[in-house]
Amino acid sequence: MEIKEIEERDRKINSFIILDREGVLGKGIPNDGKLSKITIAVKSNISVLGMKTTCASKTLENYIAPYDATVVERIKKESGIILGMTNMDEFACGSSGETSFFGPTENPSARGHIPGGSSSGSAAAVAAGFVDAAIGSDTGGSIRNPASHCGIVGFKPTYGLVSRYGLIDLAMSLDQIGPLARDVRTVALLLDVIAGYDARDATSLKMDSNFYNFSKNLNSNLRDVKIGYAEEFDGLVADNGIKKAIHTALDKLNSAGAEIISVNLPNLEIALPTYYLNVYVEFFSATRKYDGRRYGYKIEDVCGEEVLRRILLGSYISQKEYSNRYYRKALQARSIIRNEISNSLRNVDVLLGPTVPKLPHKLDTKIDDPMVIYAYDIFTVLANLAGIPAGVVPAGKVDGIPTGLQVMGRALEDQKVLDVMYGFEQI
Ligand code: GLN
Repeated sequence: MEIKEIEERDRKINSFIILDREGVLGKGIPNDGKLSKITIAVKSNISVLGMKTTCASKTLENYIAPYDATVVERIKKESGIILGMTNMDEFACGSSGETSFFGPTENPSARGHIPGGSSSGSAAAVAAGFVDAAIGSDTGGSIRNPASHCGIVGFKPTYGLVSRYGLIDLAMSLDQIGPLARDVRTVALLLDVIAGYDARDATSLKMDSNFYNFSKNLNSNLRDVKIGYAEEFDGLVADNGIKKAIHTALDKLNSAGAEIISVNLPNLEIALPTYYLNVYVEFFSATRKYDGRRYGYKIEDVCGEEVLRRILLGSYISQKEYSNRYYRKALQARSIIRNEISNSLRNVDVLLGPTVPKLPHKLDTKIDDPMVIYAYDIFTVLANLAGIPAGVVPAGKVDGIPTGLQVMGRALEDQKVLDVMYGFEQI
């Protein structure tokens, strides 16, 4: 699609904060790499040299990244054409795409509804056909949630597989960069390029070079794949249509030769508070550098309600006298969840379930209670707390609105997760 047409059509959708109209980013890059001719959008919390990397916040409204994030460097090296910076929830805090300083994004696959978030613009730009693929970040579901609502494929890799160098932190122990696209093959191809060891990220993992051939190794054979389904999922899905779509998906996988095994996650209900307590503390610490002296404005003076809530709660929980009561407990709870997930993955190849418990709400719905937004994240935060790979693939529509099937796997079994997603996509 021509840039002009994207610009025109994006007026309503608002998926881009900046479009590279002059094609500045494409200048001087090779044209024979693995991503040749593939157009890519980048979430506005990932540094692109010379571009405004705003995190969709007034705080960084005028901040121009002085270098490329490692993922961007790799995309350019492999000839990927970066078209611009996408809209998002402010500082990646949100699940709806409505908290951006640059206004909300609309869901191109369910007009009038939110696209999900926080990688709202990345998912919407892909779903609208503006780009072939996009890069997002996922701290508690921000790639998978909008992928589900917009009817596309999204993938959060194993923690450490993709370098976070150049990503503006939300909560660094949970943050992970990953790809979004309309099919599993393109997602895997982009992952081939962005994954890999990076000395500039202390948590980066080093694997053999043949580990990074996800697209070439894709295998759609589902015969004898052991799929776990947690009984607790059903009780937490608020929408019957979503429950039905997921069970239909399970039946299809079963008919294609996979074995469905029931598993238990008895502590599933503590995952959400555990996640948010961890995020508040890490986010509070990450935002201390926005004091108005180094980068733009002092964050507390200009940010939106959700960002401020997190800073205030994070500051409170971080105080010495409260940290035993809250943060230490949150860390303990995190290891309980991590162990529970790894144990459940002992007897199965992947865990499968819904991505979101409810359908995306309509834009302009007035929501005062933050818990209503947090509730979208119940199934996605698990993979971040456990550091494991998780992807989403479309599983049909409910009342005309897409919903995605989530596949989670063991740490470093990203290929297995992609294979199951690919297998499901083919049936
Ligand atoms: N919705 C979650 C939150 O608000 C996840 C955000 C993310 O993954 N960046 O924290």
